[in-house]
Amino acid sequence: MMAPFAQQRIAVVGLGKAGLPAARRLREWGAEVTAWDDKAAGREEAVAAGLDVADPASDFTYDALLLSPGIPHTLPRVHPAAAAARAAGKPILVDVEFLYRAVRAAGSQARFAGITGTNGKSTTTALLAHLIARAGIPMQVGGNLGPPALDMPILSDEGIYVLEMSSYMLERIESLRFNCATMLNLSADHLDRHGDMDGYRAAKARIFATQLAGDTAVLGMDDPGTASLRDDLAADVIPISAHTAHPGGFWATGSLLRDERGLIADLSTCPTLPGAHNAQNAAAACAMAVSLGLRRNDLADGLRSYPGLPHRQEVVGNIRGVRFVNDSKATNADSAAKALASYDRVVWIAGGMGKEGGIAPLVPLFPRIATAFLIGQDAGIFAATLAEHGVPHRRLDTLAEAVPAAAAAAFAGAADVVLLSPAAASWDQFTGFDQRGDHFRSLVHNLFRGQHLSGGDA
Ligand code: ADP
Repeated sequence: MMAPFAQQRIAVVGLGKAGLPAARRLREWGAEVTAWDDKAAGREEAVAAGLDVADPASDFTYDALLLSPGIPHTLPRVHPAAAAARAAGKPILVDVEFLYRAVRAAGSQARFAGITGTNGKSTTTALLAHLIARAGIPMQVGGNLGPPALDMPILSDEGIYVLEMSSYMLERIESLRFNCATMLNLSADHLDRHGDMDGYRAAKARIFATQLAGDTAVLGMDDPGTASLRDDLAADVIPISAHTAHPGGFWATGSLLRDERGLIADLSTCPTLPGAHNAQNAAAACAMAVSLGLRRNDLADGLRSYPGLPHRQEVVGNIRGVRFVNDSKATNADSAAKALASYDRVVWIAGGMGKEGGIAPLVPLFPRIATAFLIGQDAGIFAATLAEHGVPHRRLDTLAEAVPAAAAAAFAGAADVVLLSPAAASWDQFTGFDQRGDHFRSLVHNLFRGQHLSGGDA
């Protein structure tokens, strides 16, 4: 039995989806683990798993704190456990850091690929994982995306870990060195945690901080905040862009993805990668794939067969020439804008708990909306903005009412896409964007069953 953390006392705070498996795994790997969650439910699960439960904040006698990325250690309010670790001069770490240490302690030279950015992280991560899996290379994909790092097996030397890294996670790595790291883009987000744009950029840039010459840094050139990092990096840089050619890089001209050698793929033939934003993601995934040793000539087939992620412009059905698209992940106007911009004309389903500013940022895209169906708490606010600009719309209570109504409008010729891209959080009616998207998918499948059609792929 491997015991890379023998003799180490580790406090694990935040026992959610990743915290509990982390606590168990660290114990298996020899650590003396103390688990804590501010919520009783989390503590009860830990007790049921046979873990020692105590609040490390009262007396921090541990070698390190594994703090859930969702819990702040600086802004907006320092968690007491983080304050205690700091005062004791002990590091505050994230689960992927422990995975890295365990892999190296096991003597494995498996490589680590990390992806960050404000938008497109999950897509790029899943797309790269797809390309690597197709090449027959042993691979694990997760991190912020889903499968927790400390649920992953130790891969052998030829294996690759593909990790989505949020800024919260990047603040808590220490020795984790990415053989290949990407920063896609940078726009204002999560400033409550990072203080200001400089703090956020600095947290994201940590993805490159442990890299050495010979490692690869894939850098999005379309935002000044990422492009300007170029001169400070130790690793070899591959520039990427959704629209501009860069020597030595990967970029798109319209839907054509290229490098210096020529065409890689026509993204208009890749059904799960619509829109210019996905050109940026595809360019990054290809740059990483090539740097990891995949064959350039295999990329086009990989891009075309990428299945896409659920809830991100996921095509959930095709009925009578109408495509049903689940973009439930679009919980703010910015992400909904990306989806609306991907189609010429849509029947739009939106609403829920709107963000500040509502759908005002979407006004330039209103000409693409044939008609809208609005649900949830802020349907009235969204309706007022649409009314101001003369966009036809109807208010309904639930998604179960909106889907058949939207389908009827599309079948009557309004548009050939029905798009759920809510521009709002889901908490008023659902447990999260995934439940909302799952519900949409099953409502569409029910429609499909009602149609008794052939040729659909719902
Ligand atoms: P993340 O994991 O960073 O939240 P996702 O890949 O899950 O990103 O995409 C979430 C949404 O963000 C997508 O539905 C799309 O609207 C938008 N998006 C995806 N990629 C990009 C990109 N490269 N630039 C801007 N927006 C993007």
